[in-house]
Amino acid sequence: MPQIYLNNNSSTKVAPVVLEAMIPYFYERYGNPSNLHTFGRDTREAVEQARDQVALLLNAKPEEIYFTSGGTESNNLAIKGVFRSMADNSKHVITSTIEHSSVLYSVQYLEKAHYAKATYLKVDHHGKVDPNELEHSITDNTVLVSIMHSNNEVGTFQPIKQLCAITQKKGVYFHTDATATAGKALLDVKDLGVDLLTISAHKFHGPKGVGALYVKEGVKIEKIIYGGEQERGLRAGTEDVPGIIGLGKTTILAKDFLQQRGQEKIKILRGYFENKIKTKISDVKINGHPTERVVNVSNISFANVDHELFVECLDKEGIKVSAGSACSPGQRIVSHVLRAMQVEEKYLDSQIRFGLSRYTTKEEIDYTVKVVRKLVGQLRKHN
Ligand code: PMP
Repeated sequence: MPQIYLNNNSSTKVAPVVLEAMIPYFYERYGNPSNLHTFGRDTREAVEQARDQVALLLNAKPEEIYFTSGGTESNNLAIKGVFRSMADNSKHVITSTIEHSSVLYSVQYLEKAHYAKATYLKVDHHGKVDPNELEHSITDNTVLVSIMHSNNEVGTFQPIKQLCAITQKKGVYFHTDATATAGKALLDVKDLGVDLLTISAHKFHGPKGVGALYVKEGVKIEKIIYGGEQERGLRAGTEDVPGIIGLGKTTILAKDFLQQRGQEKIKILRGYFENKIKTKISDVKINGHPTERVVNVSNISFANVDHELFVECLDKEGIKVSAGSACSPGQRIVSHVLRAMQVEEKYLDSQIRFGLSRYTTKEEIDYTVKVVRKLVGQLRKHN
């Protein structure tokens, strides 16, 4: 039986060249970058080279890149860090209802700790926020807006450039969680106009447990982890050198991939997949924006099919997908994203997220369509 991995929004396979680049840093080049001897200087140099590589992908300056343990930490640091740098607590933060839990819960923390009041922007049926609503929600106390670049469940892109134009006019910081976008679309911090941006290596063929936060020069932000003076005092803790080297290499690969328009190939394959599903299976709904959507996500609801059972059955046939975001283990999953998009009840707990990657083949898609069709026939409840 083939093993087909279509869960690339949850995590991805580490690219072989990335792994190769990392290996020496486990057992040959293991110096602590804070040490002054040659071993330490060697890894310091390698870490700084990786910083240059990440900066290049984002069109940032190397000194604007801070390494973290991934998307969750970068989002926590961006949101809590900006508010912790404020002397006055009566401030205001704006986010959207469809953010990843690491953003939503960080914002809820600000509310609970009385750092800030929060506004949660609604989204339309495609999962987009309305720039006018953002404009009207900004008050004299608003310090930060955090809106994701693309959604990890349905893929919808937000109009970040337009949103940033609004916050810039009002002197408000803008953070975007670009975890679901990195490696699949261009991310240029200057062009977008963002002040803070999150990426995570394991979502685009890098290792798990490492990511970065872009912080524009001049943005006021305070650490949330206390300890040493690593990462210019913003993120204490000995650097994960192999991980950072892996992230650097991942960004080089991503840049090449995007320059060669590799994302277009994934988009074509996804279009092929969705067309087959729509023509061969009745009562399905493709969630998210029809065109403004990150290339690899295909979130499909199959009416009257229990999606948790569906995931299990697909796994037995060798196909790995998820029923929602991977960050809600063991919970009955009714997606807060689909709810916010006001998706009809019958499509709400029947969604499956298929996540393609640069490694996905047409043969895998054909096999998946065949199996999905068969299983929907078996699992669909008829009222
Ligand atoms: N933001 C988004 C949009 C994500 O999809 C994820 C991962 N599910 C995260 C943040 C968290 O990233 P990490 O797994 O690196 O902590």
